[in-house]
Amino acid sequence: MKFYLVNLTEKAHRFMNESVIMSWNNINKTILVLVLGGFDHLLWVFWCIYSYMHPSLQKWINVENFHYLIYLLILNTGILFLLILPTYFLRHNVFIKKYMPYIAICFFACTFIHGGYVIGIMSPTTIAGYISLISVGLVLFERKIIYIVFIPVTVFLLGAIYLSNIGAMSYAPFFSDALNQSVLYQNQYWIYSMMYLYIPIFFASIVLFEILLIQWKNRERTINEISLKDPLTGIFNRRHISLNLSHFHDEGNSYAVILLDLDYFKSINDRFGHEAGDLVLKKVAKILNGHISEHDFVGRFGGEEFIIVLYQKDLSEAIEIAERIRNEIEKKSVYIDRNLSFNFTASFGVALSAENLSKDCVIRLADQALYLAKAKGRNQVCHYLEVSVLEN
Ligand code: GH3
Ligand code: MG
Ligand code: MG
Repeated sequence: MKFYLVNLTEKAHRFMNESVIMSWNNINKTILVLVLGGFDHLLWVFWCIYSYMHPSLQKWINVENFHYLIYLLILNTGILFLLILPTYFLRHNVFIKKYMPYIAICFFACTFIHGGYVIGIMSPTTIAGYISLISVGLVLFERKIIYIVFIPVTVFLLGAIYLSNIGAMSYAPFFSDALNQSVLYQNQYWIYSMMYLYIPIFFASIVLFEILLIQWKNRERTINEISLKDPLTGIFNRRHISLNLSHFHDEGNSYAVILLDLDYFKSINDRFGHEAGDLVLKKVAKILNGHISEHDFVGRFGGEEFIIVLYQKDLSEAIEIAERIRNEIEKKSVYIDRNLSFNFTASFGVALSAENLSKDCVIRLADQALYLAKAKGRNQVCHYLEVSVLEN
């Protein structure tokens, strides 16, 4: 039993997390609307028949109108379910794809508003149901579909309220005069009917909303993550590193910046192919991640250029870390296949933050140190003080 429960919860979670419903096409969403609408109508049918059959309740319904209304309700229920067939089986047909969502939602809205009129156009169930369905519709479908269908429905709803008010239209023709003229909130049958008819719409709307909101949040989180990371290596991209560094800087933290650039990387691409080059980049990202601690961060700064920001490290510590990384990179072999492998190296430039230096200035100093490392023969670590000494 416990196993099944866990299994069920997992399935529910997966259902919520995957883009079920939200990423469905309009045809699948239309089928969902037809299924839900059909079942909701079935509940209405049961309620009507129950009210009619129950001797103590019959006095509250208009028996003269009952037969016509129940046949219409059953017909509508049947049509809602029957519409599922062409929607499903002809889902690849261009006409069905284009127009069925309109036809189905239009029919659903008409049957719903007719139901609303039958039980009282101003009844809480009609008004609350109208709001719930428009909200879910807007989340589920393109706005165009919902506006095209619901604007006429709203006009009818408002018109019916007015016509009922001036007596040109009967109000709540399903109910008897005895009920319509009674104090409604004191009538138990009316209260329970309203609850019975609205609660399924309420729950269906809440469940749909919940699914859509969870998926929206998940999507947002994923998009956020994607926008921070470099897709190839999985480490932060330049934009995010810049933002992080600005934060670091603005908070007045001291930090060291290491810039590293792979040596002769173009020739790796030329000799072993672009994919081998990509493999190298991924390996470097992995190595860098292995050398940082909690408050530090690494990112891809450009094509084959990386950046490491070390929190509260002095120059000698930063140089030591850069040396360790350089060493590990130098020793790492990349295997194209079992018999073919190659090694690669990187050059490093290290700079330290200072109160009077902007973050861009620190990066520029690290870049100058890197340039020096390249000039001195590559595969080595240089720091910004060496640059200044050379410049002097
Ligand atoms: P140096 O030692 O002076 O840095 O020489 P280099 O060949 O490493 O530098 P250069 O700037 O001439 O070439 C960098 C190369 O990096 C060119 C470009 O094709 C390659 N590159 C940039 N981004 C990627 C990438 O995402 N994947 C692969 N495989 N190659 C990339
Ligand atoms: Mg470069
Ligand atoms: Mg390079």
